[in-house]
Amino acid sequence: GNQQRGEVNILLMGAHNVGKTALTVRFLTRRFIGEYGDMESVYSRMERIHGQEICINIWDSQKGCWVSEKQLQWADGMILVYDICDRGSFEAVRQQLQLIRRSRKPASCPVVIVANKRDLQHRRRVSGEEGRLLALTQCCCFFEVSAAETYHGVLLVFHRMVDLVRETRALR
Ligand code: GDP
Repeated sequence: GNQQRGEVNILLMGAHNVGKTALTVRFLTRRFIGEYGDMESVYSRMERIHGQEICINIWDSQKGCWVSEKQLQWADGMILVYDICDRGSFEAVRQQLQLIRRSRKPASCPVVIVANKRDLQHRRRVSGEEGRLLALTQCCCFFEVSAAETYHGVLLVFHRMVDLVRETRALR
């Protein structure tokens, strides 16, 4: 399976417009591209992490809140994104966590919560504490980033996700 091949499948979820595509493009190309067409497919990138070649597959679930059972089962780990300026997108993450946990337990599927658009402080509607608290109570990791401003923060998110997947596998 994936484990032997050194592959990690990451499902990206979140409401519309939170920056899922921006994060994916940032990670894949190191660039920020403001607008793009409707993309929904799997992207791959080889990364050397802790001396091992790992193929990272990213499924950007463009259709917002709705994800299929197929996507849920495909994933080794999930990244749930919200926009700090959009409370609705934060509530969507809460709901998606419930949905995920119905079929995937923390021990089999780690989740990272990402608060995006931290460059837009003046329009903030969700505090860092709220995000951190949600992550804490749901056994998730938490990051606040700006896909628009920095590559490094986005890279940390994906690397942490890969590390969590590897830890999960080691425990099985
Ligand atoms: P998606 O629907 O979740 O894939 O969201 P997109 O990646 O298409 O981003 C939605 C909009 O937010 C676009 O206009 C992006 O340029 C913008 N955007 C994405 N990330 C950021 C960010 O970190 N900061 C700011 N200011 N804008 C962002």
